[in-house]
Amino acid sequence: MADPRRAIPRTDAVLGEPRIAKAAETLGRDLVKTLVVAAQGRARAGEIEAAAVVDDVLARLPATVASLRPVLNATGVVVHTNLGRAPLSPAALDAVVAAGGTTDVEFDLDTGERAKRGRGALAALAAAVPAAGAVHVVNNNAAALLLCALTLAPDREIVVSRGELVEIGDGFRIPDLLAATGARLREVGTTNRTSARDYAAAIGPDTGFVLKVHPSNYRVTGFTAEAGLAELAGLGVPVVADVGSGLLGPHPMLPDEPDVATALAEGAAVVTASGDKLLGGPQAGLLFGDATLVERLRRHPAARALRVDKLTLAALEATLRGPRPPVAEALAADVRDLEMRAEALAASLRSTGVEAEAVSSTAVVGGGGAPGVDLPSAAVALPARYAVALRLGEPAVVGRVVRDRCLLDLRTVRPADDATLREAVRRCG
Ligand SMILES: *Cc1c(COP(=O)(O)O)cnc(C)c1O
Repeated sequence: MADPRRAIPRTDAVLGEPRIAKAAETLGRDLVKTLVVAAQGRARAGEIEAAAVVDDVLARLPATVASLRPVLNATGVVVHTNLGRAPLSPAALDAVVAAGGTTDVEFDLDTGERAKRGRGALAALAAAVPAAGAVHVVNNNAAALLLCALTLAPDREIVVSRGELVEIGDGFRIPDLLAATGARLREVGTTNRTSARDYAAAIGPDTGFVLKVHPSNYRVTGFTAEAGLAELAGLGVPVVADVGSGLLGPHPMLPDEPDVATALAEGAAVVTASGDKLLGGPQAGLLFGDATLVERLRRHPAARALRVDKLTLAALEATLRGPRPPVAEALAADVRDLEMRAEALAASLRSTGVEAEAVSSTAVVGGGGAPGVDLPSAAVALPARYAVALRLGEPAVVGRVVRDRCLLDLRTVRPADDATLREAVRRCG
């Protein structure tokens, strides 16, 4: 009998197969060749038939070269840090693709001269917050705070309440970030109560600025007191307000969430925020405020190390000028619409034999802000065993397991993705 291994197709032959050759054009020959060699190895080990090598390679071809995979967020956590925070709007995605090649990010096509980098995005940001004397964009909110400390408090003190010494996540803490610049933190007040007088007593010739940090991922309740921005703005030193979430103006559903326009109106000299939380845009740090101070921030040598790339600028401008991004849609969704979608999805799944039921649910804003705010929602409940299969599927779906059931919360799923979600569940049946 002939050695079956002799029937294993040669590497060049497999790479020459039309579907595989086409994949090599988009994914790169090296990546596809690695899959071919692995498939040949499986055939040699007797795990697959020699004739199945091509199919094995085709089945394992990734959708893209990068390892990041698209995930349907059915967790009910609107801004999910581990899932990349805000998903970009289709308009922002288009803008990113357009800017991905060579682009006029720092060039004026009319005059043929160098132009201000990211002027379109900066103009959109300024237009969105007319009260800001000037605006600037850096890599993220942490970078915005770093730049404030480097520029406004070199070898000086930053006065901050003990109730606002925030850990952002993954072990990173705002006080450590600020101290890393060489600035000294001057803590005032107590965990639960800090008054304007506490700040006033700490302010002196060494003060760089007063920092007010929004507790965006926790709440202190009970016997509490904090000084308002307006009181602090009267103390004679600049007040930097970190509002965190990136709400540019008040949001009707999130009355306790601070916003940029209000913070400026109350007298903050500089306001910082994230771009990829409630604003629903790309990762970015947004700076608004007094024109002279913002210009100093912009010209600090470290600003060059914190600047954003053309993709971020493109996505930010499109988020600000284009249609409402998914985060805003998710916040605004009417719970009755969510219930109807859950009923329809569950009914459709039951008709194919899946044990699915529409249930009411509670969604949250997540790491992006508004701790303690419950958003009424609706979900499709499945047996718990679906959770793992859905996570490992294509596209991956992440729900949450509650009392032995896998809940797919529809507040964080775009209506346009309902059919994709249904098919993903069916494939796990
Ligand atoms: C999220 C957050 C940060 C960190 O922002 P990044 O954009 O992740 O760097 C800082 N301060 C507050 C109040 C936040 O909510």
